Amino acid sequence: MADSFQSRLDQVRDRITAACLRCCRSIEEVQLLTVSKTFGPQDVAEAVECGLKVFGESRIQEAKQKIPLCSGNLDWHMIGHLQRNKVKDAVQLFKMIHGVDSARLLETINMQKLAAGGTMPVCLEVNVSGEGSKFGMNPEEVPAVLEGATKLMNVDVVGLMTIPPFTPDPEGSRPYFKALRDLRDKCRKESGFPLEQLSMGMSHDFEVAIEEGATWIRLGSILFGERKKKETDSLSTSSWDEA
Ligand SMILES: *Cc1c(COP(=O)(O)O)cnc(C)c1O
Repeated sequence: MADSFQSRLDQVRDRITAACLRCCRSIEEVQLLTVSKTFGPQDVAEAVECGLKVFGESRIQEAKQKIPLCSGNLDWHMIGHLQRNKVKDAVQLFKMIHGVDSARLLETINMQKLAAGGTMPVCLEVNVSGEGSKFGMNPEEVPAVLEGATKLMNVDVVGLMTIPPFTPDPEGSRPYFKALRDLRDKCRKESGFPLEQLSMGMSHDFEVAIEEGATWIRLGSILFGERKKKETDSLSTSSWDEA
Protein backbone atom coordinates (compact mmCIF):
# COMPACT_ATOMS: atom_id res chain seq x y z
CA MET A 1 0.00 0.00 0.00
CA ALA A 2 1.48 3.25 -1.13
CA ASP A 3 -0.25 5.39 1.45
CA SER A 4 -0.34 3.19 4.54
CA PHE A 5 0.70 4.47 7.95
CA GLN A 6 3.77 2.25 7.68
CA SER A 7 4.85 3.79 4.39
CA ARG A 8 4.40 7.31 5.72
CA LEU A 9 6.38 6.37 8.82
CA ASP A 10 9.14 4.84 6.68
CA GLN A 11 9.40 8.06 4.68
CA VAL A 12 9.53 10.15 7.84
CA ARG A 13 12.24 7.90 9.29
CA ASP A 14 14.28 8.26 6.09
CA ARG A 15 13.98 12.03 6.32
CA ILE A 16 14.96 12.01 10.02
CA THR A 17 18.00 9.89 9.20
CA ALA A 18 19.01 12.16 6.32
CA ALA A 19 18.65 15.28 8.49
CA CYS A 20 20.78 13.68 11.22
CA LEU A 21 23.45 12.77 8.66
CA ARG A 22 23.56 16.34 7.34
CA CYS A 23 24.35 17.72 10.79
CA CYS A 24 26.40 14.78 12.11
CA ARG A 25 23.94 13.87 14.83
CA SER A 26 23.08 10.38 15.94
CA ILE A 27 19.50 9.33 15.19
CA GLU A 28 19.22 8.17 18.81
CA GLU A 29 19.31 11.81 19.87
CA VAL A 30 16.05 12.55 18.08
CA GLN A 31 12.88 11.13 19.60
CA LEU A 32 9.62 10.98 17.72
CA LEU A 33 6.50 12.10 19.53
CA THR A 34 3.50 10.93 17.51
CA VAL A 35 0.78 13.55 17.82
CA SER A 36 -2.57 11.76 17.89
CA LYS A 37 -4.84 14.69 18.75
CA THR A 38 -8.20 14.48 16.93
CA PHE A 39 -7.39 10.90 15.84
CA GLY A 40 -9.05 7.95 17.53
CA PRO A 41 -7.96 4.75 19.26
CA GLN A 42 -8.10 2.90 15.91
CA ASP A 43 -5.56 5.25 14.41
CA VAL A 44 -3.38 4.96 17.51
CA ALA A 45 -3.61 1.15 17.25
CA GLU A 46 -2.33 1.32 13.68
CA ALA A 47 0.63 3.42 14.81
CA VAL A 48 1.31 1.01 17.67
CA GLU A 49 1.36 -1.87 15.19
CA CYS A 50 4.11 -0.01 13.36
CA GLY A 51 6.12 0.07 16.58
CA LEU A 52 5.33 3.55 17.92
CA LYS A 53 4.87 3.93 21.66
CA VAL A 54 4.99 7.61 22.55
CA PHE A 55 2.00 9.79 21.76
CA GLY A 56 1.21 13.46 22.17
CA GLU A 57 -2.16 14.96 23.03
CA SER A 58 -3.11 18.59 23.35
CA ARG A 59 -6.42 18.53 25.23
CA ILE A 60 -7.09 16.95 28.61
CA GLN A 61 -10.70 16.06 27.89
CA GLU A 62 -9.83 14.26 24.68
CA ALA A 63 -6.88 12.48 26.29
CA LYS A 64 -9.02 11.35 29.22
CA GLN A 65 -11.45 9.66 26.84
CA LYS A 66 -8.87 8.26 24.47
CA ILE A 67 -6.05 6.96 26.62
CA PRO A 68 -8.06 4.25 28.42
CA LEU A 69 -9.18 2.96 24.99
CA CYS A 70 -5.63 2.52 23.71
CA SER A 71 -3.91 -0.72 24.57
CA GLY A 72 -0.23 -1.41 24.73
CA ASN A 73 2.35 -0.07 27.09
CA LEU A 74 2.23 3.49 25.74
CA ASP A 75 3.62 6.77 27.00
CA TRP A 76 1.55 9.91 26.64
CA HIS A 77 2.89 13.44 26.57
CA MET A 78 0.88 16.64 27.01
CA ILE A 79 1.82 19.12 24.28
CA GLY A 80 -1.00 21.65 24.38
CA HIS A 81 -1.81 24.64 26.52
CA LEU A 82 -2.52 23.37 30.02
CA GLN A 83 -4.92 25.18 32.34
CA ARG A 84 -4.12 25.04 36.02
CA ASN A 85 -7.47 23.48 36.90
CA LYS A 86 -6.64 20.53 34.61
CA VAL A 87 -3.25 19.76 36.13
CA LYS A 88 -4.62 17.18 38.52
CA ASP A 89 -5.81 15.10 35.56
CA ALA A 90 -2.68 15.85 33.58
CA VAL A 91 -0.31 14.38 36.16
CA GLN A 92 -2.34 11.17 36.11
CA LEU A 93 -2.48 10.87 32.34
CA PHE A 94 0.93 12.03 31.17
CA LYS A 95 4.53 10.99 31.52
CA MET A 96 5.88 14.35 30.39
CA ILE A 97 4.48 17.85 29.91
CA HIS A 98 5.86 19.99 27.07
CA GLY A 99 4.65 23.56 27.06
CA VAL A 100 4.77 24.83 30.64
CA ASP A 101 4.36 28.53 30.07
CA SER A 102 4.38 30.11 33.53
CA ALA A 103 5.92 29.80 36.99
CA ARG A 104 2.43 29.37 38.45
CA LEU A 105 1.68 26.44 36.19
CA LEU A 106 5.01 24.86 37.11
CA GLU A 107 4.19 25.27 40.82
CA THR A 108 0.77 23.71 40.31
CA ILE A 109 2.27 20.72 38.51
CA ASN A 110 4.75 20.36 41.36
CA MET A 111 1.96 20.41 43.96
CA GLN A 112 -0.19 17.87 42.13
CA LYS A 113 2.76 15.62 41.46
CA LEU A 114 3.70 15.77 45.13
CA ALA A 115 0.20 14.51 45.92
CA ALA A 116 0.28 11.84 43.21
CA GLY A 117 3.85 10.79 43.92
CA GLY A 118 6.95 10.98 41.73
CA THR A 119 8.54 13.66 39.58
CA MET A 120 7.14 15.11 36.37
CA PRO A 121 9.58 15.93 33.55
CA VAL A 122 8.58 19.18 31.85
CA CYS A 123 9.75 21.54 29.14
CA LEU A 124 9.29 25.28 29.49
CA GLU A 125 7.50 26.73 26.49
CA VAL A 126 9.18 29.84 25.19
CA ASN A 127 7.70 32.31 22.74
CA VAL A 128 10.99 33.15 21.07
CA SER A 129 9.39 35.26 18.36
CA GLY A 130 7.39 37.47 20.69
CA GLU A 131 4.54 37.07 18.20
CA GLY A 132 2.72 34.33 16.36
CA SER A 133 2.03 31.70 18.97
CA LYS A 134 -0.18 32.94 21.78
CA PHE A 135 1.45 30.84 24.45
CA GLY A 136 4.87 30.59 25.93
CA MET A 137 6.91 32.74 28.26
CA ASN A 138 9.24 35.49 27.10
CA PRO A 139 12.87 34.41 26.83
CA GLU A 140 13.80 36.91 29.57
CA GLU A 141 11.50 35.15 32.04
CA VAL A 142 13.17 31.77 31.72
CA PRO A 143 16.12 32.32 34.13
CA ALA A 144 13.81 33.35 36.98
CA VAL A 145 11.50 30.39 36.36
CA LEU A 146 14.49 28.06 36.47
CA GLU A 147 15.68 29.70 39.68
CA GLY A 148 12.24 29.08 41.21
CA ALA A 149 12.28 25.50 39.93
CA THR A 150 15.30 24.63 42.08
CA LYS A 151 12.88 24.61 45.06
CA LEU A 152 10.32 22.36 43.39
CA MET A 153 11.11 18.74 44.15
CA ASN A 154 8.35 17.09 42.13
CA VAL A 155 9.03 18.64 38.75
CA ASP A 156 12.16 18.19 36.67
CA VAL A 157 12.73 20.90 34.06
CA VAL A 158 14.40 18.85 31.36
CA GLY A 159 14.42 21.39 28.54
CA LEU A 160 12.68 24.00 26.42
CA MET A 161 9.92 23.86 23.83
CA THR A 162 8.73 26.26 21.17
CA ILE A 163 6.19 26.60 18.36
CA PRO A 164 7.40 29.14 15.80
CA PRO A 165 4.94 31.24 13.82
CA PHE A 166 3.93 29.28 10.71
CA THR A 167 5.72 30.10 7.50
CA PRO A 168 5.08 28.06 4.34
CA ASP A 169 8.82 27.70 3.84
CA PRO A 170 10.23 25.52 6.66
CA GLU A 171 13.41 27.62 6.57
CA GLY A 172 11.30 30.36 8.14
CA SER A 173 11.35 28.36 11.39
CA ARG A 174 15.13 28.16 11.55
CA PRO A 175 15.82 31.47 13.36
CA TYR A 176 13.33 30.50 16.09
CA PHE A 177 14.78 27.04 16.56
CA LYS A 178 18.25 28.50 16.70
CA ALA A 179 17.10 31.13 19.21
CA LEU A 180 15.65 28.40 21.43
CA ARG A 181 18.89 26.44 21.35
CA ASP A 182 20.96 29.54 22.10
CA LEU A 183 18.67 30.36 25.02
CA ARG A 184 19.04 26.79 26.26
CA ASP A 185 22.84 27.00 26.05
CA LYS A 186 22.87 30.27 27.96
CA CYS A 187 20.44 29.05 30.66
CA ARG A 188 22.30 25.79 31.02
CA LYS A 189 25.46 27.64 31.93
CA GLU A 190 23.78 30.08 34.28
CA SER A 191 21.33 27.77 36.02
CA GLY A 192 23.13 24.45 36.24
CA PHE A 193 20.04 22.66 34.87
CA PRO A 194 21.28 20.33 32.09
CA LEU A 195 18.22 21.23 29.91
CA GLU A 196 18.96 18.35 27.59
CA GLN A 197 15.66 18.40 25.73
CA LEU A 198 14.67 20.72 22.92
CA SER A 199 11.08 20.01 21.91
CA MET A 200 10.74 21.67 18.52
CA GLY A 201 9.73 20.79 14.98
CA MET A 202 6.39 19.69 13.55
CA SER A 203 5.32 18.05 10.29
CA HIS A 204 6.38 20.89 8.02
CA ASP A 205 9.67 21.89 9.67
CA PHE A 206 11.07 18.90 11.58
CA GLU A 207 14.17 18.55 9.42
CA VAL A 208 15.18 22.14 10.12
CA ALA A 209 14.49 21.51 13.81
CA ILE A 210 16.77 18.47 13.81
CA GLU A 211 19.53 20.49 12.18
CA GLU A 212 19.14 23.07 14.95
CA GLY A 213 19.31 20.51 17.77
CA ALA A 214 15.79 19.16 18.39
CA THR A 215 15.62 16.13 20.67
CA TRP A 216 11.82 15.75 20.49
CA ILE A 217 10.04 16.29 17.20
CA ARG A 218 6.24 16.38 17.43
CA LEU A 219 4.65 14.94 14.30
CA GLY A 220 0.94 14.59 13.63
CA SER A 221 -0.43 15.18 10.15
CA ILE A 222 2.58 13.86 8.26
CA LEU A 223 1.91 10.46 9.87
CA PHE A 224 -1.86 10.35 10.32
CA GLY A 225 -2.90 12.56 7.41
CA GLU A 226 -4.71 15.87 7.63
CA ARG A 227 -6.76 16.37 10.76
CA LYS A 228 -10.46 16.25 9.93
CA LYS A 229 -11.40 18.73 12.59
CA LYS A 230 -9.77 21.54 14.41
CA GLU A 231 -8.68 20.43 17.87
CA THR A 232 -10.69 23.26 19.39
CA ASP A 233 -13.97 22.14 17.80
CA SER A 234 -16.62 20.38 19.82
CA LEU A 235 -15.71 20.25 23.47
CA SER A 236 -18.11 17.53 24.49
CA THR A 237 -17.73 14.99 21.70
CA SER A 238 -14.53 13.62 20.35
CA SER A 239 -14.16 13.87 16.63
CA TRP A 240 -13.44 10.18 16.25
CA ASP A 241 -16.84 9.35 17.86
CA GLU A 242 -18.66 11.25 15.19
CA ALA A 243 -16.85 9.79 12.21
C1 LIG B 1 -0.75 19.66 16.66
C2 LIG B 1 0.58 19.88 17.24
C3 LIG B 1 1.71 19.27 16.68
C4 LIG B 1 1.67 18.42 15.42
O1 LIG B 1 1.39 19.21 14.31
P1 LIG B 1 1.55 18.62 12.82
O2 LIG B 1 1.78 19.83 12.01
O3 LIG B 1 0.30 17.91 12.53
O4 LIG B 1 2.74 17.72 12.83
C5 LIG B 1 2.92 19.49 17.28
N1 LIG B 1 3.03 20.25 18.40
C6 LIG B 1 1.97 20.85 18.97
C7 LIG B 1 2.17 21.66 20.19
C8 LIG B 1 0.71 20.70 18.40
O5 LIG B 1 -0.34 21.30 18.97
